[in-house]
Amino acid sequence: MIRRQHLMLCAWLLAAPLCAAQPDFLRNGAPVSPAAPDPAIVRALRTIDPARIEETIDTLVKFGTRNALTSMETGLPPGQGAAAAADWIEARFREISAQCNGCLEVNRDTFVADSASGGTRAGRIPRPARMTNIYAILRGADPAQARRMVLVTGHYDSINSNVFKSWSDTSGAAPGANDDASGVAVSLECARALSKLRFPASIVFVAVDGEEEGLIGSAHLARLAHDQGWQLEAVLNNDIVGGNTTPGDTLQLKDRVRVFSEGVPVAATEEEARRIRARGEENDSPSRELARAIADTARGYFPASGAAAPLEAFSAFLVFRPDRYGRGGDHSSFNDEGFAAVRFTEWREDYNHQHQNVVFPPAGSSAPILGDLPRFVDFHYVARVARLNAATLATLASAPGEPQKFTMETGRQETATTLHWDAPDGAPATMRYELLWRETSAPDWQYVQTVQPPASGGAVTATLPVSKDNVVFGVRSVDAAGHRSPAVTP
Ligand SMILES: [Zn+2]
Repeated sequence: MIRRQHLMLCAWLLAAPLCAAQPDFLRNGAPVSPAAPDPAIVRALRTIDPARIEETIDTLVKFGTRNALTSMETGLPPGQGAAAAADWIEARFREISAQCNGCLEVNRDTFVADSASGGTRAGRIPRPARMTNIYAILRGADPAQARRMVLVTGHYDSINSNVFKSWSDTSGAAPGANDDASGVAVSLECARALSKLRFPASIVFVAVDGEEEGLIGSAHLARLAHDQGWQLEAVLNNDIVGGNTTPGDTLQLKDRVRVFSEGVPVAATEEEARRIRARGEENDSPSRELARAIADTARGYFPASGAAAPLEAFSAFLVFRPDRYGRGGDHSSFNDEGFAAVRFTEWREDYNHQHQNVVFPPAGSSAPILGDLPRFVDFHYVARVARLNAATLATLASAPGEPQKFTMETGRQETATTLHWDAPDGAPATMRYELLWRETSAPDWQYVQTVQPPASGGAVTATLPVSKDNVVFGVRSVDAAGHRSPAVTP
């Protein structure tokens, strides 16, 4: 109504400066708003349980150390080390599967890493180590879409500060409660909550090994996904999502999680990178569109206020860089293979509780306790992160795939914009598209216009009286129930 009044005013005043203040991209489309939550997904999210997350993290800590190099050591006490932890994680996935009539395909991806495996971090594998990734697939129920996959992962291996003197030193406790038993707990909780439902596309729940030695487990799994032709559309990496609870830290925030995403894709060829620079597309990698889809999901399921809010308020704080300074994570292994992948990490990290030998100061000392211990993990916070992961996985596995072959006509000099795209593989007949745009300096999509697919279901052409030079265009797929795919850009 406001917009219509404004337009009428413009028509009346004609040359008044107010008319010039109404750009073409505001006269078309509606402001973007969150999708209504899916009641079945909300019910599943409510089953995500902080007590079970605590139990998972406590159990992983009780393996003493989960240093990946312990896998081939013979002198370990029973029930200690990375191999025992891998067996336990596999057993947990099998237990979850038994509760859904065998709905999960539980797999081990085992290989021996040696000094050649670590890439630039080769020195971190001083002797051969058997590495095991565990992954469980909830196969999609729609044969036309089951090849599509979304994946959630955390790393179960851990280290302590002995390694910074010698990577061959695996002695001492390496509890790794936050880094990264918390991420493994997210994968397991997502599997438990979502295995009660069926989705058109497939979901993969993962715990990887060898992160601390140079992303070795995830690199192996990402290569396996590439070699086996997985149609992997989204990778959610959770690493350090414990919501560190150091007493006296007043700067920690528990109502949000950081989501890191790469800009220019690391897997882009020279020619692709040149094109991205030439067109100003540095802010629209598939990983960044995935990050925006996560933020969109959070706004729908976990809004800060309002009667419709069905769950605790929680948001995704998007960080437009691949990772924190000087740090890395398993999402990068998937980026390297050309997949869209992002990293979730708590708001504020405490480096006294990462990669540290466990040290309790003497009584009366004001020195901090060192070590990555469960006492510094907020299990309710991990549950919020798990709910956002699960809501995203469920939304993406329910939504149609992304529109294909999205192109924009740039050959003629004209102020209108013409866009073309194809339907996603296995597109349901009842789907629609949402054409999106935003100002080039805006972080997230601002305006939307619904486009119905042609009756034939094939290629779509849309023309808008909006100048392509002033905005970024995207398009996403939406099913009849409102589940949205990530956007793609031309
Ligand atoms: Zn980590």
